Amino acid sequence: MGLPDLLSKDKAKADKLPPLLHAAELIKSGKAKKVAVLAGAGISTSAGIPDFRSPGTGLYDNLQALDLPYPEAVFDVNYFEVRPEPFWTLAKDLYPGKYYPTPTHYFLALLHARGVLQRVWTQNIDTLETAAGVPEDLVLEAHGSFRNAHCLRCSRPSSTEHVVSSGVRHGHVVRCSHNSCNGLVKPDIVFFGEGLPDDFFRLQRELRDCDLLIVLGTSLQVMPFAGLVNAVGSDVPRVLINREAVGAFARLKHNKSKGRDHLYQGDTDEAARIIARELGWEEELDKLIEDGRKELEKTWKEREGLAKAKGEKGAKGTAGKKEEAKKAAETKAEDKVSPAAKKDDVQPAGKDKKDAKPDADKDVDALADAVAKVEVSPKPKV
Ligand SMILES: [Zn+2]
Repeated sequence: MGLPDLLSKDKAKADKLPPLLHAAELIKSGKAKKVAVLAGAGISTSAGIPDFRSPGTGLYDNLQALDLPYPEAVFDVNYFEVRPEPFWTLAKDLYPGKYYPTPTHYFLALLHARGVLQRVWTQNIDTLETAAGVPEDLVLEAHGSFRNAHCLRCSRPSSTEHVVSSGVRHGHVVRCSHNSCNGLVKPDIVFFGEGLPDDFFRLQRELRDCDLLIVLGTSLQVMPFAGLVNAVGSDVPRVLINREAVGAFARLKHNKSKGRDHLYQGDTDEAARIIARELGWEEELDKLIEDGRKELEKTWKEREGLAKAKGEKGAKGTAGKKEEAKKAAETKAEDKVSPAAKKDDVQPAGKDKKDAKPDADKDVDALADAVAKVEVSPKPKV
C-alpha cells in the first residue's frame, strides 16, 4: 500500500472519531503542531467565576447596590472618570488572587509545555491562563486584564502594590502617586468607549498558520472576537467544546462532526481531561494542577506580605502620607479607622462602606458581561 493510500485510510478513520479523540489524534500524530485556542467565560466557571450568560445569575439586580444609572456604567470609561467609586467597589471582589485556574487552564499550559500551543486568545480578564503557566506572550487578552493599570491623566503605569493596597483591599478609588498628579488610576481592562488592544488586530494574521483550532467555553456571540473562528485557514479543523452548539457550530449535533468542524457539547474541564488522557498526558495534567495550586498559594502569600510591608514603609514617605490623607478623607464618613485597623489591612469584604454589596461571584458575572459587551460597537447607551 502506497503512502497516499495509507494517509487517506488514516484520514477516513480519523474523521469517524468523536470530536475530542479526533483532536487528540491530530496532536498525537504530529499533524497539529500549532494549536490555536479561543477561550471564553466557560473555562473559568469551575474556578468560581460564573459564566455571565448562564441563566439565573441576576447580575443586573446585584448591581443595584452600586446605585448606577445603568448596569454597564460601572465599566464605562466616561462614567468612570466622573464616578470611579462603583468600579473599585467591585474590584475589591474581582481582583485576581482569589481564584485558582481550572483544569482547562492547566491543559492549555500543558499544550504549551508539549510545544504545540500557538496562542490562547481569551475573552476573560481573570489572568488565569498565565496563572496556570501559559507564558504571557502567548496569551492574547482581547478585553485586557487586571494585570496592569495606568493613570488616566499622566498615562504612567501604576504599581500592582499601589492598586492592591488602595483599591483592592479597601475598595477605595486609586489615584496616581506620581508627584502631584493625583489622576485616576484604571486597570487595563477594556471599558466601554475604549478600543481593543492593538495586538488583537496585529496578531490575527498568525491564525492563518495554525493547524488546529480549539474553541473553549465561549458563546461566540461577541464581535469581533467571535470572528476569529474564520481567521484560520479554510481547511483547518475546528473543534468547539462548549455547553451549547453556537456560531458556525450550531448546525452540528452533540459529539458529531461535519467537514472540518467538530462539536463536543459539555464541560471544558471534562473535555480537557479526555483529550489529555487520550494523549497519555493525564498524569502530567494532574501534577500541573497540584503543583500549580501550591505555587500560587505561595506567590499570593508573598505578594500579600510585600504589599503589607510596602504599605507600612510607604506611609513614612510623601507619597505614602498623601495616600494616607486621601484614604482618611475617603473614609471620614466611617468614624472608626484606627491605625491598628489600617495596619491589619487584610479585612473581610464588607468591612468597608458597602455592607449591602452583592456577593463576589455575581459581581464577577456582571464584570464579564459588561466587558464582553465592550466589543459590540457602536453600543447605544441607555
Ligand atoms: Zn498620573
